Amino acid sequence: MSKEELILVKLGGSVITFKHRPFYEDLDTIKRLAREIKEARDEKDFRLIVGHGGGSYPHIPAKQYETFKGVIDEKSYEGIAKVQDAASRLNRIIVGELIDAGVNAVSFHLSSSCIAENGVIKKIFLDPLKKLLDFNMVPVPYGDVCLDLKKGCCILSTEMILTYLAKTFIETEKKYKVSRIIMCTDVGGVFTDDPKKNLHAELIPKITPDNFDEIVAYVKGSLAVDVTGGMLHKVKSLLELAKLGIESEIIDGKKPGMLKRALLGEKGLGTLITKD
Ligand code: ADP
Repeated sequence: MSKEELILVKLGGSVITFKHRPFYEDLDTIKRLAREIKEARDEKDFRLIVGHGGGSYPHIPAKQYETFKGVIDEKSYEGIAKVQDAASRLNRIIVGELIDAGVNAVSFHLSSSCIAENGVIKKIFLDPLKKLLDFNMVPVPYGDVCLDLKKGCCILSTEMILTYLAKTFIETEKKYKVSRIIMCTDVGGVFTDDPKKNLHAELIPKITPDNFDEIVAYVKGSLAVDVTGGMLHKVKSLLELAKLGIESEIIDGKKPGMLKRALLGEKGLGTLITKD
């Protein structure tokens, strides 16, 4: 029996929120992306997981309470509650818009299904997520606070979650084959320098394990309020998957039509991250 195609998408915090304005989502963009997902699924048969970042929602309390450091004092518990609340409030907006567009989306909370150890995912209870895929529904995980066996708590980025899922699907899953990962961000891919600051920055069309070291010298972390973000984190996570044979592409989610085209299989829309 041939495996069903499974695509993992990340809607970056920079696409779905205005990163420098606390608790401010870009509703027009969220609605459009939800429509593009619906249209692509109407045209082509594939299973889908849509993860998303937190942008200006959880990163403010996460920074204030230093949640990424773990449970460091009595205030940390208040921090865990507030970060979870902020992240899941944005999640409800995304899921609500997907449902309005006709996509049967369901929230998938890592804060209540996952345990980490020293900031690394140790185990996720994936049975419900797999069941949703069996129903051809769309699970929606997101960057979230996670309980941690060593540190008490940590922050999981969407990249960490999607990487874990992709690896698990390679190792254990009989029904679904992860065909590609699509990362929507607010720039056209990885550039030789931050394209928002340097107008002469050039797009790097392809990153492989061979040219990564050379490129890393150029790629700088995003300077926005973001405890787990930045381009480098994205590229490193995706390169790990490229080595396992999963191709991914970083595209501009603010540009209408890009996500739909990527979902329908078009390549070369941004920066491709691949084995060779
Ligand atoms: P997201 O929230 O979409 O996951 P991030 O904010 O973590 O994305 O990273 C994307 C940001 O990285 C872009 O908005 C861009 O300003 C910044 N950036 C820094 N260096 C680069 C680079 N070399 N190429 C592309 N983007 C870069």
